[in-house]
Amino acid sequence: MTDNTAARPQNLPDVLRHYIDGQWVDSIDGDTFEVIDPVTNEPYIRAASGKVADIDAAVAAAKKAFELGPWSKMLPRERARVLYSIADQVEDRGDELAAMESYDSGLPITQALGQARRAAENFRFFADLIVAQTDDAFKVPGRQANYVNRKPIGVAGLITPWNTPFMLESWKLAPAIATGNTVVLKPAEFTPLSASLWAGIFEQAGLPQGVFNLVNGFGEEGYAGDSLVKHPDVPLISFTGESRTGQIIFANSAPFLKGLSMELGGKSPAVVFDDADLEAAINATVFGVFSLNGERCTAGSRILVQRGIYDEFVKRYAAQAKRVKVGLPSDPKTEVGALVHPEHYEKVMSYVEIGKGEGRLVAGGGRPEGFGTGNYVQPTVFADVAAEARIFQEEIFGPVVAITPFDTDEEALELANNTKYGLAAYIWTSDLKRAHNFSQAVEAGMVWLNSNNVRDLRTPFGGVKASGLGHEGGYRSIDFYTDQQAVHINLGEVHNPVFGKQDDDSAQKADG
Ligand code: NAD
Repeated sequence: MTDNTAARPQNLPDVLRHYIDGQWVDSIDGDTFEVIDPVTNEPYIRAASGKVADIDAAVAAAKKAFELGPWSKMLPRERARVLYSIADQVEDRGDELAAMESYDSGLPITQALGQARRAAENFRFFADLIVAQTDDAFKVPGRQANYVNRKPIGVAGLITPWNTPFMLESWKLAPAIATGNTVVLKPAEFTPLSASLWAGIFEQAGLPQGVFNLVNGFGEEGYAGDSLVKHPDVPLISFTGESRTGQIIFANSAPFLKGLSMELGGKSPAVVFDDADLEAAINATVFGVFSLNGERCTAGSRILVQRGIYDEFVKRYAAQAKRVKVGLPSDPKTEVGALVHPEHYEKVMSYVEIGKGEGRLVAGGGRPEGFGTGNYVQPTVFADVAAEARIFQEEIFGPVVAITPFDTDEEALELANNTKYGLAAYIWTSDLKRAHNFSQAVEAGMVWLNSNNVRDLRTPFGGVKASGLGHEGGYRSIDFYTDQQAVHINLGEVHNPVFGKQDDDSAQKADG
């Protein structure tokens, strides 16, 4: 279970370099860092470690491409053609891409393939959206016409995490470039491999030089992520990652008053009422926390179950969790692979130990047998977990779930809202009135009723409370990546307010 040689992608370079202004380049100071594969925890490649000077070069290239290049001025249909070609290539290279992603991140190969397809869809979707985009117009007959100019903003800084890296990069890249901006992408340091494919795909699709720039490296002060956030020529930062990192980025962006979009952590409740379709609820909640290795921002990692069905739910849930197949990420039968990195494995395992003192362990609770090395964790289920427990309150981001009983709807709501997070909520009931009323009251950016988290790309994605700031997805992404300039045209007589003339009210109609 620990020999990963067969899965190793072929023909890798020695170093994953930065891609700036259409060229592969080393870090200016020559620095690199090790990247490991999560099955052996052995380094398999190095990546260039970007710092302030590398970000300066990437931002300068992106700024030049924005101001002097064709991209920001092209017709939406012309840009869409490039985006469709990107989507086709991502789809055609899906198997190769998924294999790389699975090797680098430990995600099960079948799920990595699904993520690659979703990445292609993101490009196709935003290509369609910009072509169909209409601009607002407002008329006051005989007096005024007003319309809105949507304009790309400039250089967008895109900072992404290590869970489903390629798909999450596509989620930002597609709308940012579709709307005519240029970008600097800083992928997560644990998983830089698949990001190295973008440059070739973009070149082949005909994206002009300098529109896409990639700087690898760490996030902290003095490194690539921090330098991008603090760069004065980057007016937009789209960030996905931990809530704590979001707070730091928020503070560091404040002096520049940057546009910010933050998709942050979660501890989402799945609420199962006693009138739910139990079979469907169990299947969905098992998938909801153990798919993507539990490294999923919208994981339903707290399951609240009504007392009447609680014992049966826990018994059946634990039995199903024990059947989830842990295995080599490259094996198509694997349902839970290896966690991304030993540091993250230690964190998840520490919560498993904490959980043993906070709840009743009914499945998992350690390393699966037969796995000598690698970041493998058994799908782990704790029942009878109280709301004060750390495993109820804190994001674990691994295959670990807390189950808690409740009696009334009011108690369920109180428990559901009893964390600092507010990303998603899943509600299982056959009572539509209850489902709608609960959705209204639950503190979550997204609610799924009797459903897994399948998401239509047109809908807004985002969290409330510590789970995020703003929304992306569909038109919300178009709003984030564009300025809206209002143009007012006088259609009547030119009528200027005359100061000192008491009966003239036109000055009152102007905004502050
Ligand atoms: P992280 O916050 O540690 O890192 C995310 C990215 O930010 C990395 O590229 C990192 O290098 C960079 N970074 C770190 N410090 C920085 C700084 N000071 N300035 C600029 N950049 C910095 O998150 P992670 O561990 O990579 O990802 C897991 C987290 O992401 C979880 O909390 C998860 O819930 C969240 N997530 C949220 C969503 C969502 O849509 N809400 C989606 C996926 C993941």
